[in-house]
Amino acid sequence: MNNVYVEPVVFFVIGIITGSFLHLCAYRLPRRKSILFPSSHCPHCTTRIKAVDLVPLLSYIWLQGKCRFCGARISISHPLIELLTGLLFMIAYLRFGLSTMLIKALLLISLLMIIAMIDLKHYVIPNKLTALVLLLGLAFVLFTGEPTILSALTGFGAAFLFLLFLALVSRGGMGGGDIKLAAVIGLCLGWPDGITAVLLGCLLAGLVGLLLLLLRVKNRKDAIPLGPFLAAGALIMFYGGAGISSWYLENILLY
Ligand SMILES: [Zn+2]
Repeated sequence: MNNVYVEPVVFFVIGIITGSFLHLCAYRLPRRKSILFPSSHCPHCTTRIKAVDLVPLLSYIWLQGKCRFCGARISISHPLIELLTGLLFMIAYLRFGLSTMLIKALLLISLLMIIAMIDLKHYVIPNKLTALVLLLGLAFVLFTGEPTILSALTGFGAAFLFLLFLALVSRGGMGGGDIKLAAVIGLCLGWPDGITAVLLGCLLAGLVGLLLLLLRVKNRKDAIPLGPFLAAGALIMFYGGAGISSWYLENILLY
């Protein structure tokens, strides 16, 4: 097989393996359990899962979504998260090649995936994870100058103020965790991509919220977690870059 195909597949495979670990982190971190010990076990019958049944994506298929020992259903979120992480890692490689930006992309994807999963399930964004996104952003500002200090600070401030404004207007519809996450995304992506990412995330959340309201899945009082949408906005902007920013600022925001 030609090299052109081998490397993206390698990153896809690294992605599905990482996705399996991210799922485990998102399950164990809010329950204050170690992410290293014990090894994976069925949450229903607590039997330790055999190595052969820990193959990302494929295990779910040959186990037909059930625990080998007790037959309890395995959440469909396992293969979905593995597949999504695999695709995101592969796209990151295709977009950035072997570069420092690829390292940033893979770390950002991993942190945002855990944050999104925890927020979806528990309606909370742990400060420690937001702090790691902040550290990632600062490390790249200091060591690669991408984004520049000025750009990072502007992105941070703009995202923070925008979410603070939304929180005040929506009166409790948004938590402090959302504001902090938006601010560090603003820093990580810099100006103007960071603020575009946050605007895009809020726009997506609004559209999905409206859809769920129309389909009567949720009612007006239900909160929908903003974290997954901020994560999606951040990744779209990280891949799409300046092109989307200038289009968005020119055509939507300034009209
Ligand atoms: Zn079981």
